[in-house]
Amino acid sequence: MKVIDMHLHLDETVRGESKVALDILSREMIKEGVSKGLLLHLNTQRFHFEDLGRELGQYKNIFGFININPMDKDAGFQLERGVTKLNYKGLKLHPRLNGYRADHPNVKKLFKKAYELGVPTLVDAFPDGDSLLLGFDVSQYGRLALSCPDAPLIVAHFGGHRVIDMMLVAKRVPNIYLNISYTLLYYRDSSITGDVVYAIKSMKGERIFYGSDYPDRELGKTLELTLDVFDKFNLTDDLIEKVLYKNAEKFITDFIK
Ligand SMILES: [Zn+2]
Repeated sequence: MKVIDMHLHLDETVRGESKVALDILSREMIKEGVSKGLLLHLNTQRFHFEDLGRELGQYKNIFGFININPMDKDAGFQLERGVTKLNYKGLKLHPRLNGYRADHPNVKKLFKKAYELGVPTLVDAFPDGDSLLLGFDVSQYGRLALSCPDAPLIVAHFGGHRVIDMMLVAKRVPNIYLNISYTLLYYRDSSITGDVVYAIKSMKGERIFYGSDYPDRELGKTLELTLDVFDKFNLTDDLIEKVLYKNAEKFITDFIK
């Protein structure tokens, strides 16, 4: 079975710099049969974006998005440097960890800049207590996507427990893509996992990617548990193939240079 993982981070607990963590991740992917992976740099991690950005050029199976805080004065410059001088292939936004709302004017500005530079954007959308207190709302993600309607926007974690709302917004906003990372298994044993599978079926599997959220979740174990859930909720082989591989393969062909 072919698998592309559209949500990975580096393991900060490894001893050494980003090169060591990248090697470990790359080996783990090969071992578990994950052919390609989207690595999300985090500006809250100790790995420096310059080092990581240089080293990413050496991995054929890993492509990385640079995490930038749109509230930084030089956010646009950082992005331009990341994608033109370093090896980043896209922009990662983290409203929850960096403390802003997804439709803030600065976020829209940076999202547009990514489009002008020819790279896609991924934005975190898992409403934990912090983001709910910050005013998380699914409509913010829809408005962000609509602010630059030709720019691809991957909404990570499918909106968490707001998955059905996110699905309804995504049906109206064609440049939104989704990934099921973390949410599907975090809410296992609750009704929300069934809702995620319902959303996959309702969207005919279109524009939805698999992701593990490694190292929070192990690559092999996550894949195994995900397939168990898909089986339990009778997801067809056709939809499973789209989510695990086909959609991501097409997205990479279309948008990753
Ligand atoms: Zn993540």
